[in-house]
Amino acid sequence: MKAAVLHGPGDVRVESIPGPVAGPGEAIVRVSAAGLCGTDYRIWSGDRRVRYPLIMGHELIGAVVSVGPGVANVVPGQKVAVQPNYSCGACPLCREGNWNLCLSRTAVGIDVDGGFAEQARLPARVCWPAPADLADDQLLLAEPLAVVVRAVLRGEALAGETAAVLGVGTLGLLAVQVLKARGLRVLAVARSERRLELARAMGAAAVATTAGAAMGAGGSTSVEAARALSGREGVDLVVETAGTAEAVEQAVELARPGGRVVLTGLPHEPSSLHFFWVVRRELRLIGSMIYQDEFPEAIRLLASGAVRTERLLTHRFPLEAIQDAFVAHRSPESIKVAVIP
Ligand SMILES: [Zn+2]
Ligand SMILES: [Zn+2]
Repeated sequence: MKAAVLHGPGDVRVESIPGPVAGPGEAIVRVSAAGLCGTDYRIWSGDRRVRYPLIMGHELIGAVVSVGPGVANVVPGQKVAVQPNYSCGACPLCREGNWNLCLSRTAVGIDVDGGFAEQARLPARVCWPAPADLADDQLLLAEPLAVVVRAVLRGEALAGETAAVLGVGTLGLLAVQVLKARGLRVLAVARSERRLELARAMGAAAVATTAGAAMGAGGSTSVEAARALSGREGVDLVVETAGTAEAVEQAVELARPGGRVVLTGLPHEPSSLHFFWVVRRELRLIGSMIYQDEFPEAIRLLASGAVRTERLLTHRFPLEAIQDAFVAHRSPESIKVAVIP
């Protein structure tokens, strides 16, 4: 089969390698598309080190072609979305249900070979069945959508409440839609105005930029917008998806006293968050790490049409042009870039 093999930072080569064979409990998936995200970019650029050679790609979907002994949840021909993280199943975190926090967690496309290839070998238990008539372009967003579904769940979003979403990348634009589907009115906040119209088209009731932000000063556009939308001191729930140090600080500014702030973007830099406001406003700061059992709900939201992805999937590249896919990921026009093996 053809696979894009990463041999070192920036060194990805499309090669012909032997196709995988399913062992006990495993499934072979014919990859129909694999999304590319910031994590892939950091691995490709060498910012994040992995074991080489590696077939990257963790946002993959496709159809099962064969299964090994003992597999009962999927059969050949089944369309699936792959949950690209699985845990050891034996440690205290796994046993108490916190498998997403397992320190021996395995990430497909990072720790083991992933979806930038014609076929992928996976534990069958990470293959979630999807309706045969659900379009690939929709299903491809299942993985980031599962991240968002968990964040919204952790934030205990209630119909009738107001929410702010920070960041209008893939996660942010999905969060706007999930919160709206749950009956919240949503303010979308971004650093620039570039994608705010898209956030409106995805259902945001209001949009704002973080321009002029200063902790406690109340002078920023987004703080005013949060007050205007909620008709009070701030929104009930903030979902932070940008994963930058500034966005974390900004998230705390937008919540009303007694409100909740869910952080699901992974900030790689330390933040100078002013914890005075966390105490003074008695905020609940909630981390949300990938997903636990959210894939079925993500697939349901896509199948029902509650979450639309057409305008999120901006670029598609064949496997041979994967180098261009990494470049496209960094372009300001791209939201979700897909590789089609
Ligand atoms: Zn990703
Ligand atoms: Zn574990």
